[in-house]
Amino acid sequence: MNAPEHVTVHAATGRLSLTWNGGHTQWIDNATLREHCPCSTCRRLAHAGHAARVEPHVAIVDMQPMGYGVQIGFSDGHAQGIYPWEYLAAIT
Ligand SMILES: [Zn+2]
Repeated sequence: MNAPEHVTVHAATGRLSLTWNGGHTQWIDNATLREHCPCSTCRRLAHAGHAARVEPHVAIVDMQPMGYGVQIGFSDGHAQGIYPWEYLAAIT
């Protein structure tokens, strides 16, 4: 899956926007992103029914392009999650 044309952190509203090829713009709340963290620790916790408690105003403090997706660092100190583009596209 191709990378979006634009990935923008909207700090004031606590959201991420992704503009996909063709112009469709997807919005995802930071807290929703954090809840969907795909790292092995979060997936193991979620599988065990102990999903991380997410602070509702968690912020994005870092983004590192990884080719097939993006690694996102959050203000709660968690930065292990690498979000593939197709995974992000499926978050509603
Ligand atoms: Zn995680």
